[in-house]
Amino acid sequence: MFVAEAGCLYPFRRDVRPPPERENAKMRRGKDLHVAIERALLSQPAVGDRPEVLHAYRWATERWSVLHCETPIGIDPTNGTARQYDTKDDIPDDHVAVVVDVHSREAAAVYDWKTGSQFSSFSYAPQVKLNGYAVAALLGVEDVESGLAYVSAHGITAKSWLLDAFDLARQRQQLRLWAAQAPTAEPTPCAACKWCPARAICPAMVDKEAKWTA
Ligand code: SF4
Repeated sequence: MFVAEAGCLYPFRRDVRPPPERENAKMRRGKDLHVAIERALLSQPAVGDRPEVLHAYRWATERWSVLHCETPIGIDPTNGTARQYDTKDDIPDDHVAVVVDVHSREAAAVYDWKTGSQFSSFSYAPQVKLNGYAVAALLGVEDVESGLAYVSAHGITAKSWLLDAFDLARQRQQLRLWAAQAPTAEPTPCAACKWCPARAICPAMVDKEAKWTA
């Protein structure tokens, strides 16, 4: 979504299939931690002895008595409605697929676990807005708290934003516009190229690299 927000819809064309991301040690560590936190939250006795997991468990359970983990939500961009699916693979291809890390329905709050540095220059704003929209549309509410919870062995540092009816309406409009434009989108080099999942197959990047190596 950060690529769309930066101005390029090419990776969202149906005929463009970005290759699977190559995992590095940092990404593997992040994934492992997500799984461990989810397990701890779903089966309380098995919190384990990793300090990061213990902090995440305490942080979430002190806030909410009932919470949901790793929830696949599909948003129909033509009308902005959302529903929960059993797995991400069940979400229709023409829907926007979101898997939210942890959310509370009573509190209308959603958080994404972050296992990297909170001082990274990468902007998570598109993800925060999309997560917030997905949960608000799922619950049918007009205000939602959406945030990032940075997990470390020293504790949790959380940042959150309150999205109101205006923010949600803007996100709905944007999703509708992107869905209409994506089928014919051309590569548009932008600030997100560096992190783009389609970079390896993007004609704009291939041309650029060919020029450099000529
Ligand atoms: S690498 Fe290509 S597809 Fe990705 S954002 Fe840049 S121009 Fe768009």
